[in-house]
Amino acid sequence: MSGASVKVAVRVRPFNSREISKDSTCIIQMQGKTTTIQNPKNPKEALKSFNFDYSYWSHTSPEDPSFASQCLVFNDIGKEMLQHAFEGYNVCIFAYGQTGSGKSYTMMGRQEDSQEGIIPLLCEDLFEKINDNNNEDISFSVEVSYMEIYCERVRDLLNPKNKGNLRVREHPLLGPYVEDLSKLAVTSYTDIADLMDAGNKARTVAATNMNETSSRSHAVFTIVFTQKKYDIETDLSTEKVSKISLVDLAGSERADSTGAKGTRLKEGANINKSLTTLGKVISALAEVDNCTSKSKKKKKSDFIPYRDSVLTWLLRENLGGNSRTAMVAALSPADINYDETLSTLRYADRAK
Ligand code: ADP
Repeated sequence: MSGASVKVAVRVRPFNSREISKDSTCIIQMQGKTTTIQNPKNPKEALKSFNFDYSYWSHTSPEDPSFASQCLVFNDIGKEMLQHAFEGYNVCIFAYGQTGSGKSYTMMGRQEDSQEGIIPLLCEDLFEKINDNNNEDISFSVEVSYMEIYCERVRDLLNPKNKGNLRVREHPLLGPYVEDLSKLAVTSYTDIADLMDAGNKARTVAATNMNETSSRSHAVFTIVFTQKKYDIETDLSTEKVSKISLVDLAGSERADSTGAKGTRLKEGANINKSLTTLGKVISALAEVDNCTSKSKKKKKSDFIPYRDSVLTWLLRENLGGNSRTAMVAALSPADINYDETLSTLRYADRAK
C-alpha cells in the first residue's frame, strides 16, 4: 500500500484502430488491485505483476458493464482529492503514459459522447458542493488558470495573445509562480467549462502553428479554491486556500535519440527531464511518507529535487508538505507497445 499522500492508479484502454489493424493481442490483465503484463517476445517468461491502489480495466467499450467508467475513476480519485481540497490541502492529480495511451481521455475526457474526465467532473462537483452549502458564515471563491509547459517554457492557454514564454518566479511566502499568468475568477461550472474549451483550443492551435503536437507538452489546469469563514464570536474571518493542480503530462515515450537532432533532440531531453524529475520527486515523497521517524523525514525531504524542472518547481506546493497527490498511469493493452507499457508500469510502481 502506498504512503498516505500518493495514490497510484493504472488504467488500460481499448485497442485503437492501429492496434486492431496489426492484429494485436492484449498483454495486460487485471484482478483486484493487481495488474500483470506478459512479455509477448517471450511467452514462457513469467508474468510481471504490480500492485496499485486502483487497477482500472477499460479495455472494453464504455457501454460494456465491465468497463471502468469515467465516473468510477472520478468517484475513487477525483472525489477523494476534492474532499482534501475542502479540508484545506493542496492537491495534484496527474496522468502519465505514452502518447495515445489515454491520458487526455482520463483527465479531460470526450465531450462528444458524454465521457467527461476527471477535470470537468471535479469542477462540476466543486460547484455542486459550493451551491449545497447553507452555512452563511462560509463564503467561497474560485479562480482558474491553464498553462502549457513546452521545452521548459510556460504558455498561458487562457490568454491567446500571450505567445508564450512567461517568467517563473518565486514568492518569498507563496513559493514558485508564473508571472503574468491569467487567473480568472469563476462562479459556475459553465464558466469553467467555457474556459477549459477555450484553453484546449488554444493548445491545439498553438501546437499546430509551431509544428509541434500537444503530446510533447504538459498541460496544467489549476484551480485556486478559497474558503472564508466568519466567526461571529471573534468578529474575525479565517481563510483556507487550496490549490488543485490537474496535469496532463507530455507523452512518456523516449525521444528517439538515433534520428533526433536540434529542436527534436532538445525537446525530447526536456520532456525526459521533467518526467524523470517528477518521478524522482514522487518517489522521494513516497519514501518520506513511509518513514516514521521525524528526523528521517526532515533529512529525506532535503533531497527532493523540485528545482530540476519547471514542471516540478511549479508543482512544489502541490506535491510536498501540505498536499495530496494522485497519479493515473495510462496503458495501451497491445503487445506492440510492450516496452513503453512496462516502463510506464515501473514508473507508477516507483511512485508508491
Ligand atoms: P493521450 O492523451 O495519452 O495521448 P488519448 O486520451 O488522446 O491519449 O487517447 C487516445 C485515444 O484512445 C482517444 O481516441 C481516446 O478517446 C481513446 N481512449 C483512451 N482511453 C480510453 C478509455 N479508457 N476508454 C475508451 N477510449 C479511450
